[in-house]
Amino acid sequence: MIGLGRFGASLAKELIQLGYEVLGIDKDEEAVDELSDKLTHVVVADSTDEEVLRSLGIRNFDCVVVAIGDDIQASILTTILLKDIGVNNVVTKALSELHGKVLEKIGVDRVIFPERDMGIRVAHQLVSPNLLDYIELSKEYTIAELSVPRCLAGKTLRELDPRHRFGCSVVAINKKNNVVIAPTAEDTVEERDVMVLIGTKQQIDHFEHALI
Ligand code: ADP
Repeated sequence: MIGLGRFGASLAKELIQLGYEVLGIDKDEEAVDELSDKLTHVVVADSTDEEVLRSLGIRNFDCVVVAIGDDIQASILTTILLKDIGVNNVVTKALSELHGKVLEKIGVDRVIFPERDMGIRVAHQLVSPNLLDYIELSKEYTIAELSVPRCLAGKTLRELDPRHRFGCSVVAINKKNNVVIAPTAEDTVEERDVMVLIGTKQQIDHFEHALI
């Protein structure tokens, strides 16, 4: 993890929680000290220095994340160096669409836009109070998790009938103690169950609004 600001630190700590080994690199000693007992290794270093990267054996890592914040120049230089050295999987955080385009041109494997994506996600959740999370399968299709409001408690899927009314299907119901995969028309939903739906964004939106 290169750059241990808020985003890099949070990502690195979560990877440790998931059981992975993480080397954290930052040029700021304070940022490094903060994580010294939380990550597998930490190093104070400037990632725009090729010799430093080589001496850390950066080529042997499965993935390198460049989570440098405001310094676009350092982010681009670091990314180029990593690809030149031969790192297989480089993921870089971009601050703007243009920054992202530059990163793609220099051969980064994946660009992430945490602020932009989180903004979009929170906007969806604000306008759809029952929407817990969603994944865009394609431009058209989405999988969404909707929490079941009290007014629907005890209803069967036959009564809700999302497929005929809105065109989207319930593929699972996540209950407190079990998950009902591919539920039948007779399965019921209870308050706070989570329905997992598949359909177009518009179909899921219509269903969600009919729930409120
Ligand atoms: P965030 O928005 O995630 O908090 P920040 O800009 O605060 O982002 O953090 C980015 C981190 O990247 C900072 O801790 C900074 O010291 C570090 N950083 C910036 N440039 C370099 C560099 N060339 N080498 C190593 N670390 C760097």
